[in-house]
Amino acid sequence: MVVAQGVTKRFGSVEVLKGIDLTVARGEVCCLLGPSGSGKSTFLRCVNHLERVDGGSITVDGERIGYRRRGDLLHELAEREIAVQRRDIGMVFQRFNLFPHMTALENVTEAPVRVRRLSRAAAREQAHALLDRVGLGDRAGHYPAQLSGGQQQRVAIARALAMEPKLMLFDEPTSALDPELVGEVLDVMRGLAADGMTMIVVTHEVGFAREVADTAVFMDGGVVVEAGAPRDVLDRPGQDRTRSFLAKVL
Ligand code: ADP
Ligand code: MG
Repeated sequence: MVVAQGVTKRFGSVEVLKGIDLTVARGEVCCLLGPSGSGKSTFLRCVNHLERVDGGSITVDGERIGYRRRGDLLHELAEREIAVQRRDIGMVFQRFNLFPHMTALENVTEAPVRVRRLSRAAAREQAHALLDRVGLGDRAGHYPAQLSGGQQQRVAIARALAMEPKLMLFDEPTSALDPELVGEVLDVMRGLAADGMTMIVVTHEVGFAREVADTAVFMDGGVVVEAGAPRDVLDRPGQDRTRSFLAKVL
C-alpha cells in the first residue's frame, strides 16, 4: 500500500529526512517511533503531500504521490489534482482540529457532502454509523466544546473515515490527551486495525505498538535506525539509539 524510497526533505539548509525507505503492506499497521525532531511528522506530511519531497519517491496503492503516469512519462500534479489524490488518505493529528461551530455529526458529514458529493441524507446515515463505530452514537448533536479530548479525537477519526480512505495516517493522536482518555482512542484504533485498515501511526505508546503493529520503525535524525517486527525492534533492539530512546519512554 505504501512504498517510500530514499525520501529526502530539507527545510532551508537543514535536511530533516535523509533517505527514508519504508514499506507498509495492505492491511498492515506500521508504528513510527523516535525522539522529537527526528522527522516523523514531516515524513507523514510527505505521504499526504502536505509537504513535497525533495528526493526519492512515495507511492500509495501504486500511485506516485504528487505525480500522474501518462505512458512512460510522469507528470507533476497541480494543486487541485493533489487534493484529489489526498482524498484517499485519512489523517488524524495530535490536535483534533474539529470545526468548532459544527456538531459531531456535521463535522463527519461535511467532507463527504462537499467533496464526495454524497447526498446529505446518505452522509448523515454514514456519519451515524461511523459515530457508532467510534463509540459516540449518543453524541452526534454535541459540539466539540461539549466533548472531552478523547471524544473529540474519536470524532476526528470518524471524520477521516467518512472519506473512505485506503490509508490512515495518525500523528501522535493521543499525545494531547489526559492519560485517562488515551485508552478510548487507542481502542478505536485497535478496532480499525482489526478491520484491516492500513495505518501508519506515529506514537510514543510502546504498548500499543507492541500489540497492534505489524512493523515498528525507529527513526532518529532523519533516518530509519531500525525497522522490523515489534518484538525485535521494541523488545530487543539492535541499535544503541533505539535502546536509549525506549529506556526514556517506557
Ligand atoms: P518529529 O515529528 O519527529 O518530532 P518533525 O518532522 O516535526 O519531527 O521535525 C523534524 C525537523 O524538521 C525538526 O528539526 C523541525 O524543527 C524541522 N521542521 C519541521 N517542519 C518545519 C518547517 N515547516 N520549517 C522548518 N523546519 C521544520
Ligand atoms: Mg511530530
